[in-house]
Amino acid sequence: MSETFMAMDTVMEITAYGADSSLMEAAKGRIKELEGLFSVTDENSEIYDLNQTGSAELSPDTLTLVTKALDICRETDGAVDITIYPVVKAWGFTTGNYRIPDSDELKNLLENVRYEDVAISGNIVTIPQGTQVDLGSVAKGYTGDVISVLLKDGGVTSALLDLGGNIQAVGSRPDGSAWRVAVQNPKGEGYVGVLSVSDKAVITSGGYERYFEDDNGNTYWHILDPKTGSPAQNGLISVTIVGDEGVVCDGLSTALFVIGLDKASALWREQGGFEAVLVSEDGRVYITEGLEDCFEPELGIGLSVIEH
Ligand code: ADP
Ligand code: MG
Repeated sequence: MSETFMAMDTVMEITAYGADSSLMEAAKGRIKELEGLFSVTDENSEIYDLNQTGSAELSPDTLTLVTKALDICRETDGAVDITIYPVVKAWGFTTGNYRIPDSDELKNLLENVRYEDVAISGNIVTIPQGTQVDLGSVAKGYTGDVISVLLKDGGVTSALLDLGGNIQAVGSRPDGSAWRVAVQNPKGEGYVGVLSVSDKAVITSGGYERYFEDDNGNTYWHILDPKTGSPAQNGLISVTIVGDEGVVCDGLSTALFVIGLDKASALWREQGGFEAVLVSEDGRVYITEGLEDCFEPELGIGLSVIEH
């Protein structure tokens, strides 16, 4: 069965072999439920409540996601920072009313961007005055993890989830061969290559997904560098992470985009546990060693391998 629908501000598609319509409905319902908890704009969400009042009692899902997200903030040394929301808002990325904040405004807002100040005690989360949380960098990855488990518990051994370009492959294709996931070409049409994977999350952050242009043709995208408060410009235009846990892959895709090729390679060597496809501004594609046997580049793509 296959279903396409809108959720979390993006198009989602679930294809599950051996699923019945009640399992598909359950999956969709669960996604809507998670959206209702994590959304920064829905006035009934737990994150909205936290951002308004500075403190909130969290359900198990939100508590798990915030806890995992804070781990990723620490592991990436703040390249992912879930307290970046005031800066995201200032650029207009939540409303679509885009603007370019000046450097004083950014400097002021950045004073409250400190994931270290998010305190968890039991199921209560507290943030200081002025700080606001945005789980946009990790929410779809977490949702993919939850839905994969839901489908497996329902007896599905073969499924592909596409949560707005965040892919989660459950098992293999029905014939036992690997799922084939194309990595979009951030510079134009088509793909830079195809990944063959089974039971993996394949999650991409790209500058081409959500952006605006000013009158001079400069592009501003939605992935911000918490050091500057401006769109991250460290040479990469797309980062795809392949790994076992969607939430980690989602966080890392944002983080590696922010820190650029050299630091991304170093983080992969030091921390491991994932593989990556990085596309640089000049269109060159870099894959980590572990993908050598499962990444097929498109014709004409310049490919380099990042080694240990
Ligand atoms: P997408 O959700 O478009 O697939 P990402 O996973 O990279 O892309 O998440 C980007 C979203 O995360 C932005 O829309 C914004 O809400 C938030 N964000 C942007 N920069 C950062 C950052 N450095 N750390 C944490 N969250 C960020
Ligand atoms: Mg991400």
